[in-house]
Amino acid sequence: MATIFTKIINREIPATIVYETDTVLAFKDIAPAAPIHILVVPKKEIPTINDITPEDKNIIGDMYLAIAHIAKELGIAEQGYRVITNCNEYGGQEVFHLHFHLLGGKKMGALV
Ligand code: AMP
Repeated sequence: MATIFTKIINREIPATIVYETDTVLAFKDIAPAAPIHILVVPKKEIPTINDITPEDKNIIGDMYLAIAHIAKELGIAEQGYRVITNCNEYGGQEVFHLHFHLLGGKKMGALV
């Protein structure tokens, strides 16, 4: 089912887009949890990690390549950053369109 991220991908609702390829879109999180908080999403609708299939292997690789590119562009590659994907209820997932949170610009604390 289409989520708010599909609407952002289709330019039906606004977002601050920072990077785009033919398979991936990256935009600022609307409620940032760190000075830099970017969401990296596949253009293909994949609800959760559980729904990734072997045919999605290249897309997942594209997402990591996008993260590395954005981190370099934003000047946080060397100091470091955190990448998180939440899955389903216990993981705290709210939007059911696969995404990586790219968090940076400060030293991260405990994982949970
Ligand atoms: P998750 O809890 O892992 O599913 O993360 C969903 C993220 O999407 C949260 O960090 C929200 O702040 C973010 N979010 C929700 N709606 C929007 C939006 N319209 N534009 C940008 N980020 C959003």
